[in-house]
Amino acid sequence: MSTIVFVHAHPDDEASQTAGTMRLAADAGHRVVCVYATDGDHGTVPSDLADGETVVDRRRAEAEASAAVLGTARVAWLGYADSGMTGWEQNAADRSFHSADPREAASRLAAILDEEDADVVTGYDWHGGYGHPDHVKVHAVVHRAAADARRQPRVLEASMNRDLLRRLYHAAREAGVAGEGGEDWDPDQPADDGNPIGSPEAELHWHVDVRPVLAVKREALASHASQEDVGWMLGMPEEQYALVFGDEWYREPGRPAGLTSGLPF
Ligand SMILES: [Zn+2]
Repeated sequence: MSTIVFVHAHPDDEASQTAGTMRLAADAGHRVVCVYATDGDHGTVPSDLADGETVVDRRRAEAEASAAVLGTARVAWLGYADSGMTGWEQNAADRSFHSADPREAASRLAAILDEEDADVVTGYDWHGGYGHPDHVKVHAVVHRAAADARRQPRVLEASMNRDLLRRLYHAAREAGVAGEGGEDWDPDQPADDGNPIGSPEAELHWHVDVRPVLAVKREALASHASQEDVGWMLGMPEEQYALVFGDEWYREPGRPAGLTSGLPF
C-alpha cells in the first residue's frame, strides 16, 4: 500500500478537484494525506461566525470535516495566507503564499513528504488549471519538494480536461441551457493568467472515474459550505454535477503520452 500526499492551494480545492481519487485511494487501503498551502483567510466571511471564531478557524474545521468524509488520514498546513487573483493587493502581504520564497515553501512540504515517507505527491498542472497565483505556485513548490525529499516520490498533476469541457459547453449551448447559473463559460477563453483552462486531453495521463463515490465527493464539497463558489457548485442539478465532477484527470510528467483509465496507484 502507498502513501499519497495531495497538495492543494486552499481548503475546498480538494473537494472540487481530487476528492473522488482520495476516497477511492483510501478505500483501496492507501494512506491519504491532504496538505493545504494556505489557510483560506481571504475566503468568504461566514455570517454565522461564533464569538472569537475567525474565518481561518472555520475553514480549518471545514477541512477536517471534509477529511473525515474522504477517509483522509492526516490534514497538514504549510501555514501561508491566501493570495488573490493576478494583480490583487494582498499578493504582496507578508505571509502570502504568493510572495513566499519557493525554496522555503518547498522545504516545509518536503519535511511532510519525509515524515510520511510519501510514495506519491499530487500538485497542479503548470498553470494551476486556471492561473490563480496560489495554484500556479503549488505546481512549482510540489515539484521542488519532491526533488528535495529523501525518497523522491512520483509527482502527479491534477488538471482539467479542456476537450471534455469544450464538448460539455457546446452540448449545453445546443440544448439551450448555457447562459444561466454561471455555466456559460467557454473553456477556450483565456482564464486568469491568459491561458485557457486545464490541459488538452492529449496531455493527460490518468483518468479516474469517480462516479462510484460521487455522493461522497459532493458531501466533501458541502463540508466547505461557508464558501460562495461552493454554494454555486452544490446548486448544480445532479446530472450536470456528474458531468462536470464525475471524472478526475492527472498529468504525470515523464510518463509516455497516452491516457490510462483507473487509479494511478
Ligand atoms: Zn484554490
